[in-house]
Amino acid sequence: MSQVYDRIALIGLGLIASSMFWAIKRSGLAGEVTGYARSEATRDAARRIGLCDRVCDTAREAVEGADLVVLCVPVGAMEAVATDIAPVLKPGATVTDVGSVKRHVIQAVSPHIPEGVHFVPAHPLAGTEHSGPEAGFAELYDNRWCLLVPVEGSDPDAIARLRALWEGMGANVDEMDADHHDLVLAVTSHAPHLIAYTMVGVADDLRRVTDTEVIKYSAAGFRDFTRIAASDPTMWRDVFLTNKDATLEILGRFTEELFALQRAIRTGDGEHLFDYFTRTRAIRRGIIDAGQDTDAPDFGRGKASS
Ligand code: NAP
Repeated sequence: MSQVYDRIALIGLGLIASSMFWAIKRSGLAGEVTGYARSEATRDAARRIGLCDRVCDTAREAVEGADLVVLCVPVGAMEAVATDIAPVLKPGATVTDVGSVKRHVIQAVSPHIPEGVHFVPAHPLAGTEHSGPEAGFAELYDNRWCLLVPVEGSDPDAIARLRALWEGMGANVDEMDADHHDLVLAVTSHAPHLIAYTMVGVADDLRRVTDTEVIKYSAAGFRDFTRIAASDPTMWRDVFLTNKDATLEILGRFTEELFALQRAIRTGDGEHLFDYFTRTRAIRRGIIDAGQDTDAPDFGRGKASS
């Protein structure tokens, strides 16, 4: 694989940025990768494990001379970072992000992008419940989707180059409109996370079931909920605050379906339950057939998921 950018700057050095760095290095996609994280502890950890060719003490230093700047901070922090780096962005450079919500990031970042700099928002659909600079690994994006969400007037060459980078990191790339992205992700990721947080919260509240019982006898279903509910609190707080409408829309539908299932249980309507579960089982089969999860009995645990 050949080099796509001379210099890439990663702002925020957590799971997503560190996985990008290892994937970029694996395929020689950039001449140099600089990095910046807010806390000294994260910058020290990055230096210790060789994450980034150069770790800088300010975001501006990391961004100077970069052809591609990737904002890898929580969605709620994107605007402050964009404001900070705007004056030092190189003319002709591209700014992108990896935020889990797109309409909000576009509204927060676009006004700060100077004339002559391209902005191409993106979202890799890959992650784990781990966070921080040591959580990343080169294979995270292999065969996973990365959605590019170009804004009005996005430069076709800048989009094509960013696509080449994500493909070089192993991802399959698609383009999507921001509002549609936010609705799709509310269904496939945001609402499921909220439901998992709720289920684990309920188990925690149910004092008749002790903590040790929850842990000792946790069946596969509950264990998968706890894995999802261990995801980063800052990241997920920001996702729900910024993808409010789509998440509330999906949760409304979820509640209606839940009531229908509750009613079927109460009235002993086995046919309704059986038909419903047959339909959902087919969706699971479709995900496996599309290569987006494995049929392994451990539910693909340890493999990337988001
Ligand atoms: P992470 O592992 O928690 O890392 C976040 C990084 O952002 C850290 O380096 C942190 O710095 C920095 N940061 C946090 N708050 C900041 C602030 N207010 N100002 C400046 N820097 C700040 O997070 P991640 O999982 O890589 O997620 C990063 C982005 O990717 C988020 O926008 C998220 O929505 C998106 N995303 C996540 C996943 C996933 O499953 N994890 C998947 C796809 C997309 P310190 O370490 O110094 O605190």
